[in-house]
Amino acid sequence: MGSKRTSLEMFRLKKVLEALASKEGRGTELISLYIPPGRQVSEIIAMLKDEWGTASNIKSTTTRKNVQDAIVRVIQRLKLFREIPENGLVIFCGAIPQGPPGSEKMETYVIVPPEPINIYLYRCDSRFHIEHLRDLVREKETYGVILVDSSGATFATIRGRRLEIADEITSGIPGKHRAGGQSARRFERLREMQVQEFFKRVASHANNIFLSIEDLKGIIIGGPGPTKYDFEKGGYLDYRLKEKIIATIDTAYTGEQGVKEILEKAPEIMKNVRYVEERRIVQRFLYEVGHDTGLATYGEREVRRALEVGIVDTLLLSEALNISRVTVSCSSCGYTYHETMESSEVLRFTQSLAGKPCPKCGTPTLSVTEEKDLIEELAEIAEKSGSNVEIISPETEEGQMLLKSFGGIAAILRYKMEQH
Ligand SMILES: [Zn+2]
Repeated sequence: MGSKRTSLEMFRLKKVLEALASKEGRGTELISLYIPPGRQVSEIIAMLKDEWGTASNIKSTTTRKNVQDAIVRVIQRLKLFREIPENGLVIFCGAIPQGPPGSEKMETYVIVPPEPINIYLYRCDSRFHIEHLRDLVREKETYGVILVDSSGATFATIRGRRLEIADEITSGIPGKHRAGGQSARRFERLREMQVQEFFKRVASHANNIFLSIEDLKGIIIGGPGPTKYDFEKGGYLDYRLKEKIIATIDTAYTGEQGVKEILEKAPEIMKNVRYVEERRIVQRFLYEVGHDTGLATYGEREVRRALEVGIVDTLLLSEALNISRVTVSCSSCGYTYHETMESSEVLRFTQSLAGKPCPKCGTPTLSVTEEKDLIEELAEIAEKSGSNVEIISPETEEGQMLLKSFGGIAAILRYKMEQH
């Protein structure tokens, strides 16, 4: 199906992988479970019950207890699913030391991957096995490659690190040196016609191969010499492919060797594709701001208000934000309020609550009951009202502007906000 991954999904996955990578168990007691789509929940639970039984052979009392507790937790979580989601399911669970021995806390992470995982894995180790999910974070869109010079053309697809040669054709065009006795003009004209015929053939092969790829992200044209430019400028390609050309690159070779050269340069090219998207999104926001259309707003408070009334078309959040949304609750009267602060400030803020009277009942029983990444918190509100969420990297000039001039939080609106 190849569902399109959004920048928000990628951001979420990256964050959780960062967190998981740093975790280590005291013994071999952290569980990683990958379930591909199509498996039965009951079948997995039966397997886990077997593992629970096997774990009773573990010699260390603590490890045995931790492993068995983790398995029970995983089973509990699995039971919440009537069936395995269409992209599969990944669960990590285990006792994570918070300090000295005995401080372990059971942590559980349930991840529905943004694209199908085709691996079944149960592993009990001193770390979480995140590498299969990490593969998903890498760029995986499909790109088409057309390598062309006067001797022939090569067609290939690149998906992640995988390249596949789809087709190769030769041009049949003779070299630039005419045979004796031929008139120079006639030779040139003939050659010109042959080149045109060849370009038409290249285009027709390209159309056949690439138009049927549903999620084709872009086309890269390459080859040694100027032929590739003549082909590109000549307008031979179907317009749907033409508008997907993202780069024209000089290569030393044609054929598979040339495609490999392009593969080497691909990460850079693909990163640039996302940057172009990001720049376009921020520019759209800047246009609304610059023309005072009332269809843009920025800053946490204003954006939150727009989100809450459901008028946000696109929410723009800087990836570089390190801000937390904290919930403070009073254990005596149940009073709750929220505060936003730099993530690095949360610990100090938590300590500052000690002895502070509750604004409602006056009892000094306030504590932080929840801490959430502000990006995540705003994104969740946005998703509920069907807004697009774009996580913008600070790598472009526009991304820097979003971060520095607009606090990293902005929105393009569907309607003007009512003034109060
Ligand atoms: Zn209170």
